[in-house]
Amino acid sequence: MTSSHEGPDNKIPVAVLGATGSVGQRFAALLADHPWFEVKVLAASERSAGRPYREAVRWVQQTPLPASLAEMPIAPCQPGAARGCRLAFSSLDDNVAGALEAEFAAAGFLVVSNAKNHRMHPQVPLLVPEINAGHLDLATRQDFGPGKILANPNCSTIGLVLALKPLVDAFGVEQAQVFTMQALSGAGVPGVPGMQVPDNIIPLISGEEQKIESESRKILGSLAADGIRDHDLTVSAQCNRVAVSDGHTGCVSVKLASKATPEEVIEAWRSFEGEPQRLGLPSAPVPPIHYLDEPDAPQPRIHRDLGGGMAISVGRLRECPLLDYKFVTLSHNTVRGAAGGAILVAELAVERGWVERPPGAGS
Ligand code: NAP
Repeated sequence: MTSSHEGPDNKIPVAVLGATGSVGQRFAALLADHPWFEVKVLAASERSAGRPYREAVRWVQQTPLPASLAEMPIAPCQPGAARGCRLAFSSLDDNVAGALEAEFAAAGFLVVSNAKNHRMHPQVPLLVPEINAGHLDLATRQDFGPGKILANPNCSTIGLVLALKPLVDAFGVEQAQVFTMQALSGAGVPGVPGMQVPDNIIPLISGEEQKIESESRKILGSLAADGIRDHDLTVSAQCNRVAVSDGHTGCVSVKLASKATPEEVIEAWRSFEGEPQRLGLPSAPVPPIHYLDEPDAPQPRIHRDLGGGMAISVGRLRECPLLDYKFVTLSHNTVRGAAGGAILVAELAVERGWVERPPGAGS
């Protein structure tokens, strides 16, 4: 798309906090050629600070480390070290994200966070731009300081709610049950110990089930004068770590509020689009949802990169003897579920005028 934000001289300078981790690397890879944003600061812990990025990071992406970032020294994770940036993408470890993100917002940054810490804060919007772009306005009620915090949801939650949203709009959804099979990259770097990976499934991802159950209701909820009113659907989640590199799979059953034929359900997915597609945002996948007809789809290795990893895929729709329908979803956890999703949130915020453009930037 042609955008008023494009051009080498008018990119918005951004910082990546937690740049050495699993999600931080995705940010580096996705932002290296972004038409609106330019990485000016890569920050991480004191262990990494001062070292060139190529040396501090254990690069595990399939694309090479961007040459433009390789020699950039890692900055300490302090607002003063990111002076000149207006926007900070956070992929900080949960143990430090809460306080550090608040510090950056107090210093005037727009922080787009991947961490769990602020997601359920009553004034922090939990954004999947195709679903609840209007929730962005909730951030005007924040009192972190001159800056704001916008939250990107849990990686499994994003795949689930994107599949549910068209059904919520068309038929209503009363109950959803999901069993996840989640990729190793979701556990960060270095992640799950090697001895636990082959020939194994780990039926515990600490805190994940509660996140999916509560975050889904907030994302699908509505913005009211007193804050977000959660959607009243009930979600039950069971989460498992499996030996897949990237891509979270969910086996979902739903109870609908009104009857629908399988053809109507598939049509709801195939015709779905949201605000990012209507605005033509650079990271918006078109279409956002692929319904796949193959009887054994979706599969992580084959389908996780659809739409550059920003689209989700859905398949195997069939009747459910307990609820109404069951199906399988797949979403890329570090792209759609983390760095790419956060970049899409930032693009929406820029489009809505939340981030000042650099002085002298052409229009
Ligand atoms: P990770 O690989 O463990 O990376 C954590 C990052 O935080 C590293 O860059 C690390 O820097 C930095 N860090 C740790 N302690 C710090 C400190 N005291 N000060 C400054 N920086 C510090 O984790 P991840 O998987 O990328 O996840 C990052 C965040 O995104 C987490 O909150 C996670 O829950 C969330 N998330 C992850 C995924 C996923 O699929 N992986 C998806 C959605 C959301 P050093 O290298 O210097 O230690």
